[in-house]
Amino acid sequence: MRIDVLSCLPNLMTSFMSYSIIKRAIDSNLLQLNFHNLHDFASGKHKKIDDYAYSGTPGLVLKLEPIDRCIEFLKKSNDEKYDEIIYMAPDGEILNQKIAQEMSNKRNLIILCGHYKGVDERVREHYITREISIGEYVLSGGEIPACVLIDSIVRLIPGAINNINSALEDSFQDDKYVIAPPVYTRPKIYNNLKVPEILLSGNTKLINEWLNNESKKRTEKYNKLNNKNLT
Ligand code: SAH
Repeated sequence: MRIDVLSCLPNLMTSFMSYSIIKRAIDSNLLQLNFHNLHDFASGKHKKIDDYAYSGTPGLVLKLEPIDRCIEFLKKSNDEKYDEIIYMAPDGEILNQKIAQEMSNKRNLIILCGHYKGVDERVREHYITREISIGEYVLSGGEIPACVLIDSIVRLIPGAINNINSALEDSFQDDKYVIAPPVYTRPKIYNNLKVPEILLSGNTKLINEWLNNESKKRTEKYNKLNNKNLT
C-alpha cells in the first residue's frame, strides 16, 4: 500500500511514523509512506502557501495552488490512479473501525492535512474524494488526525501485526468481541493486586466463557457511556 501525505508541517508526523507497527510495515515493504511539504509546491516570489479569507473571517487559509500542484505532481509521477484523496476535516465522516478496515484494502491514498482555518473550499469541491474526521472537536491541524487514520489503517494490513488474530480480537473489529475483554500479565500478584483466579486455571473453556462475559459487560458499559447500542 502507498500513502502520500500532504502537509505544511510534515515534521510533526515523521517521528510518529518511525516506531512500532508503522515502522515495521515500512521496513517490510507493506507500506510506502511519503510526506510532501506544501511549501515545496508554492510558487511566486514569496512562496506563500496561505492567505487571508475573502469573507473577512479571521485566520489564514491554505491556498489552492500548492495543493493542486502537489496532487498533479503525484498523479503524473504515479501511473496508477489514487483510490481516494482524503481530506482530514472536523466535519467529515467520523473515523471508525469499519472505515479503517475498508481503507486498509486500498492500494494508494493521498491524505491532505489542513491547517489554520482549513483549505480553500475549491480543494474540497474538486479534488477530494472523501473527508474524514477523528471526532467532534477541532485541532490546529490535520497532522495528528492523519497519524491517527494511518495508524488505524496500517495495523490492519495483513502482515503488519505478527499475529493478525491479535488485531481481529480487538474492540470494534466485529470479529470476536464488540469491546475486547480485560488483559493481565505477570506477576500473578503485585502489592496484593491479583490476577483473576480463572485466568490461571488453565481451563480453556472456562477462560473463554469468562472472556465473553467480560466483553459483554464492557460492551454494556460502553453503550451506556456513549449512548450507543452495539451488540
Ligand atoms: N475552520 C475549521 C477548522 C479548521 S482546523 C472548522 O471550523 O471546521 C484546521 C485543520 O485541522 C483542518 O483543516 C483539518 O485538516 C484539521 N482538523 C482539525 N480538527 C480535526 C478533526 N477533528 N478531524 C480531522 N481533522 C481535523
